[in-house]
Order: sequence, then structure tokens, then C-alpha cells
Amino acid sequence: MTEPKLRLSTTKIGNFLGCRKRYYWTYERKLVPVIKSRPLQVGSVVHDLAEKFRLGEITMDTFSHLDEYVHQLFPNNTQQESVSIAIEAGKLAQMYIMKYENDPYKVISPEMHLELERDEYILYTRLDSMFRGPNERLWRGEIKTTARMDSAYLSGLKGSLQSGIAYLVMKEVIPEPVFGTVYDLIVKKKEPECHRMPIPAEKRLLANTEETIAGVVRDIKRADFYPSMQCFTYNRECDYYHLCYRYSERVVEEFYTEYIPFYETKKEEGGIKAEQVYKKLELSK
Ligand code: SF4
Repeated sequence: MTEPKLRLSTTKIGNFLGCRKRYYWTYERKLVPVIKSRPLQVGSVVHDLAEKFRLGEITMDTFSHLDEYVHQLFPNNTQQESVSIAIEAGKLAQMYIMKYENDPYKVISPEMHLELERDEYILYTRLDSMFRGPNERLWRGEIKTTARMDSAYLSGLKGSLQSGIAYLVMKEVIPEPVFGTVYDLIVKKKEPECHRMPIPAEKRLLANTEETIAGVVRDIKRADFYPSMQCFTYNRECDYYHLCYRYSERVVEEFYTEYIPFYETKKEEGGIKAEQVYKKLELSK
């Protein structure tokens, strides 16, 4: 039987580059922590609400039962944690919705899962949305919740691995050039803020990303999963600390659960291909 092709996304590659041992626990052993961190939960719920808003599915009920929705998504939360996350995420999402009620950018597609198949691997990415902006240009839309928005954060967005991978896949799959990324940044402060940053795509990003991916594919195939020790050096525990330093079957059972990869939960198995994108974005050939 032939081995299934290696599947790579931004999260997987980012994990591998950050710490190969973390990649091993997550994608080879398929273990994820039972408890998802609070910032990740808030970010997921804000994303879901923004998606519903773009699809015209937001109703009064959405916000009045938000704690129940949070609890369905994260059943290991206490009731109190779900309520608190619903309050924070609801506040951020309402601010976003009010700001973009009359958006000058026209959303032409909500979330899409795109795939690019190559000889050695399949590269996949999720687009939050596609926009038609001024001068009819096509833009990728990305929502980010962040605690800070300084110059380091903004320049990181410009050359991010996530953008590089998205541009590589879009170049092959989307039948029209994508001009760049419109970032909607939701800044989590006492008084939250929402900023829009359109950042044109940079050509050199494609070559850099290709090089990074080639190195990652080579080392994954070699099963080169050594620990980075960054947690130890900087005294910053990652979610897999228990596994690296106190491994036992009991630790696995207590703190981790089996991982279901995102693409396996998607109905559109295999992602969206160019022909479907034409249809979905209502683009003409
Ligand atoms: S605990 Fe340290 S070595 Fe282990 S996966 Fe996390 S960052 Fe890597």
C-alpha cells in the first residue's frame, strides 16, 4: 500500500520550525491538550462570529446564547469559563460587526479550504474570506485577534509564513491574481479596537516560503524530531511540557486527547480546486 502524502499547513510547518518535538507530539502521536488556552478559545469564537456575520447568519439569538455555543465548542470548560469567554468574544465580535456593517470591501467568498497537490506533499490553507477591494482588485481577508499591535507585530504580518503559504496555494488554485491581504486586527484591550491593514503581497515571500517548505519536508521525512529546549532555556512551558518532562501513560490520559485533523472534519474532503473556486467566487475564466 502506498503511503499517504504528507499534508502540510501553516500551523504544521510553524510548529515544526518552533519545536520539532512539539510537531512530533501533535502530528505524529496525534495528541492535543485537553484544555485549549483562553486566548485561543476567544480567537476561535470571534472568528466564528465574524464568519456568521459575513454569511448574514447573525441574529439576536447568536449573542444571547453565546455561552452555550462556547460550551459546545469547548466542553471541558466550567460553566463560568464559558460565560466569561462568551462575554469577551461577544464584545470583540460586536465591535467588528458595527465597524464593518457598511464595508467598502465587498466580500465575495466566506471561509474556504484550499489545497495544492505536489509530488511529495499536499499544501493546504484556510482563507477567512476573499474581498473585492478598490479598483476591483482581489484580496485575501484575514481576521486576527491580538493583545498588541506594535511595529514588530505589523512587520511580522508582512512576511509571515501564513501569508507565504496562502499566496503559494492561491497562485495555483485561484484563477485571478490576488493583490495582497486585508488584515482586520481586533486588539484585545480594556477598550478593544479594530483596525484594517491592507498589505500588498511581496514577490520574494514566495521564494522564501518555497525554501522553508523544502527544508521542512526533508527533515520530516528523516523523522528528525529533536526538542528545541526553548521552554527550558526561557522557562516558558509549552502545552507539551508534561509529555517532554514527565512522560507516562497516565499523563497522556489525563492531559491529552486524540487529535482530529481539521481537514478530516471538513465536508469538502480534498479541499477546493480551481474549478470550484471559479464557481465559488463567481469569477469568469
Ligand atoms: S516542552 Fe519544550 S521541548 Fe517539549 S515540545 Fe514544548 S517546546 Fe518542545
